[in-house]
Amino acid sequence: MLSYQHAYHAGNFADVQKHLTLFAVADYLLRKKSAITYVDSHAGRGLYPLATKETQRLQEYREGIAPLWQARQQLSDPLLSRWLTALNSAQPNADVLSHYPGSPWWLAKALRDHDQLRLFELHPGEHEHLSGQTLPKQARRVYGDGLQGLKQLVPVSSPRMCVLVDPSYERKAEYQEVVDAVAYTLEKVRHAVLMIWYPLLPAGHHETLLSGLEASGIRKIWHSELLLRAAGESAHGMYGSGMVVINPPWGLDEQLAAAMSQVTPLLGSHSHYRAKWLVGE
Ligand code: SAM
Repeated sequence: MLSYQHAYHAGNFADVQKHLTLFAVADYLLRKKSAITYVDSHAGRGLYPLATKETQRLQEYREGIAPLWQARQQLSDPLLSRWLTALNSAQPNADVLSHYPGSPWWLAKALRDHDQLRLFELHPGEHEHLSGQTLPKQARRVYGDGLQGLKQLVPVSSPRMCVLVDPSYERKAEYQEVVDAVAYTLEKVRHAVLMIWYPLLPAGHHETLLSGLEASGIRKIWHSELLLRAAGESAHGMYGSGMVVINPPWGLDEQLAAAMSQVTPLLGSHSHYRAKWLVGE
């Protein structure tokens, strides 16, 4: 029984890190003409009106996208500026932040006619919301398990592949299941670019994911973490957000470090960003 609904968290600091990374990766991939198959294994609703009851309950966007949006005219970083301009294009009324788009929207924005996008969602209500979104015809929505769906999809016929794995981690076993699905995908598509989001929680379960990836034999694993507060500051709740990128595009590290140097001062005095290679070439 799935209970997580991303609407309660839409636009939070983790979404900023996740979607900025996704945007930078897709931007780089678009420099070449050859076709890309994108997969979003845990898609969510696709678009989150900030005024909904769910999003208003925790208002996490106030510690995420809202301060960046307010400061957007003063932000000089090119990646951040382009990302915020794209975000503006998701708003029904330009220059008024009323909606936060999820990963299906960010990926759909990158789609060209010859690319494909597969969106998996297992929660019936969330899938229904996603089905109601207007998306390009190359985007196919699947009501089903995202990691199984990913494994069934590979190898793909397109020359390139880009995957976002963004589970809700409601079950501890998911951390290891992600490692297994990613390793299987890379066996079939060696050059696939894979992004895996993970939460930093006091229980530290993300270590299963990181140590599992490290031990898997997969090369070129880079990861970054955006921390909102110190790990010991609260016994509960997410204190940070992480993104693994396997086979990252050249220059991603520097691009994100520059963007994040303008993001963290807006997220509070304890906020900081760090990144490193988990496994090199
Ligand atoms: N990727 C989305 C974004 O960035 O906008 C947010 C996704 S949210 C963190 C995780 C989603 O995964 C939830 O909508 C949840 O219903 C869905 N989910 C949970 N288990 C799943 C599974 N096994 N397969 C596919 N989707 C699943």
